[in-house]
Order: sequence, then C-alpha cells, then structure tokens
Amino acid sequence: MAMDANVEEDEAFSELDNRQGSVEEDMPEENVDETAVSESTFDLTLPATHSYLGHNLEELRGRTILDDGIYMNLPLLVKQSVMLFPGQTLPMTVFDPQTIDMLTACIRNNRTLGVVCLGYDKMVPIGTTAEIYECVYEDPEQGFRLKAKGRQRFKILRVIIQGYDKISANVKILPEIILGPPFWDERLASLDHLRIRPRTEEDFKKQEKIENLDATVTPWPAWVYRQYDPLRLSLKIRQHLQFIESRGSSIPEEPTDLSFWVAQNLLLDDNERIVLLNYDCAISRLQREIKYLEDDKIFVCCDCDSFIGRQSKMFPMSKEGPQGTYCNPAGIIHETVTLYHAQGLTLSRNPPSIEYTWFPGYAWTVAMCENCGAHMGWKFTAVRNDLKPRSFWGLIRKSLKNKDK
Ligand SMILES: [Zn+2]
Repeated sequence: MAMDANVEEDEAFSELDNRQGSVEEDMPEENVDETAVSESTFDLTLPATHSYLGHNLEELRGRTILDDGIYMNLPLLVKQSVMLFPGQTLPMTVFDPQTIDMLTACIRNNRTLGVVCLGYDKMVPIGTTAEIYECVYEDPEQGFRLKAKGRQRFKILRVIIQGYDKISANVKILPEIILGPPFWDERLASLDHLRIRPRTEEDFKKQEKIENLDATVTPWPAWVYRQYDPLRLSLKIRQHLQFIESRGSSIPEEPTDLSFWVAQNLLLDDNERIVLLNYDCAISRLQREIKYLEDDKIFVCCDCDSFIGRQSKMFPMSKEGPQGTYCNPAGIIHETVTLYHAQGLTLSRNPPSIEYTWFPGYAWTVAMCENCGAHMGWKFTAVRNDLKPRSFWGLIRKSLKNKDK
C-alpha cells in the first residue's frame, strides 16, 4: 500500500522512474565509508539556499512579528506531509490557481500564512506561521516558487472554508514562555559575584556548589531545580548531538531555538511532533527530546516494518541539520532526512539524474523498500570527483517510522 504522497511522487517522476522489476545495487554494510562522511567536502550551505527553485527569486524585505496571544485570521496551507516548526525553512512550488491567489494576497498583506499538518483523518488544531521571504512568479509552467520561514506557533479556533479549497482560520498566536535559571528567584544575592553563564560541563560543576547553597533556603534539594534548568538541558542535548555538530551543521545555542531545531531534525512521527509543538516552553520540549535522543532509535518502513536505518547514522548534508524540507518540480514537499548508511532499499533502474537536485553536485536515484516496493526516498551520488561523501541517502520522513530497539 503506497501513501498518497508517494502516489503523487510516482507521477512526478514517472518519466524518470521506470520500475519494472527494478532491483539493483544495494549498499552493503561494509561499504559504508564513515571517514568520507567526516571529511565531507560538500558545502553545507548549498541545500539551505534551495537553489533548485532558481536564482531569480525576489527578496521580500522586513519581518512580521505577531504579538503573543493575539487573535487573527490567517490564510491556511494544509499539507499532509509537512509540520512546520519555528525556524524551519519551507520551500514551495505551487501550480494550483487558488493557492497562488492566496499567496499573492498574502504577500500584499503581511506575507504571513499558517501551515497546518493534515493528520490521518483530520487537520491538526495547532500550526506554525510561515513568513514568505523570497518568491517569483514569471512562468506559469514553472509555478509560483517561494521560500518561507516558520515563525510562531498558533492554535486554530475556527476553520473557515470559502468556495472550493480556500481555507483560512481564526487563530490565537501562542506565547513562547521563556524561563530563566530555576534558582533565580530563590538565589542568595550575596553569591551573585560567583555566578557565570555556564556553557561547558565544567562550568556547570562549578555552579553546582553555589546552587547547593541556594537550595538550602528552599524546600527542595538542588537536583530538583536542575531538572528544569534550560541551559543544563541544552548542554545535555548538545552532548547527544555531537555526532551531528562535529560534521559542520550549526546547532542553535539558545534553548528555545535549540528545542525547535531538535523537533525539526529528529525523525519523529506526526503524533510525537504534535506533542512537541503543543508545549509552550522550551524546558518541557527539551526534556522530552532528551528521552528521544537517549535511545538510538531505529527506522523501519512505514508500510511493512522492514529495517531501514538508525538514528546514529543520520548526518547533516545541510547547515540546517540532517532533516530538511525540500520541494520537487511537481510541487510535492518532502521532509527528507539524510543518512550515510541505510539498508533494505533497492534502486530504480533509471540512471541517476541531476535535474532539480536538492544537493548540488549530487545526482539522485529513486529508492524503494526492498520488501514492499514503497517509495522511501533517493540515493544521492556525487557527480564531481572532489565531492565527499561519494554517496548518501535522503529518505522521506513520512515513509519511515520509529521503533524502539
Ligand atoms: Zn516496506
């Protein structure tokens, strides 16, 4: 059983993807060149520019920040495959005239629309505003192309559907609560000259002595407070993410930005993502994310449960992280995670193509589940001799699901 998105995908690649009895080279485990990954020569800033959309996009100036807690009407973009987090880039190519009208009106207004995920049977009642920052619409054959950035979370109060497919909603912009160090209000001011903004594990150890003194005048021991310290939680997350950070991806330092970055980049299913999007504070989000990171999750085919890969084989091919949102020429948006090793996949017989490639310098070949034939993503292979790694996998988030070891 193929998912809807895959069916659309098949159409999009129909001329390139000839899948009659398509079985070809697989990547045996021994062949994984981990050094080539750590010695990557690929410019990680390239995918984040989404250059496949063309170079003639007009930059829109200014920035819209909506007040926390305000009520407003937002045009909605409802996508089955996309759940946007603040900070995440959303590239799009749109052909549908209704949506183009909506986007044109949106650009004339405050350039902000709401992006909502369509769950299995209904719209998720929470979403993220997206601010359009670049766009072009010259040739209808190429569609309306744009790039938007996730900004603020909102809650849907009422959906308004006008005519065919024109959807907007009355929403409330959700506040992002920022809590400082948990000891702050209880602290002993006489120790202030000893306090630092801790960054490393050693810094935190030094701070512990001071916190233990702070705690003596409170009803709780110091370790209770430490579980709610956004900076400590951030350090713990960054330690888990060292395997990604050491490979050139820029991971945000600020706890709120970090919590959204992790939510975007971990391979999580829609339900887990909704939980993370619902929290109004980085502390709860980071605490939950640490739990996800502590297990080396395995990924299986969403349709047949065959083993495909594991979390520790994820690596960034974009400075925005190992998972990003990319758009194909037909306008289908894919949240795609990059892994240097995967298994249980089989490649289409068509030769690799560089047309519309998301990773400049790499050609793609459609990859399917070896067991059930579902479209899982692509194998990317270097077309330039100087590029390392020589190949990697870009797999579609929706085609995979998590399984505990
Ligand atoms: Zn399968």
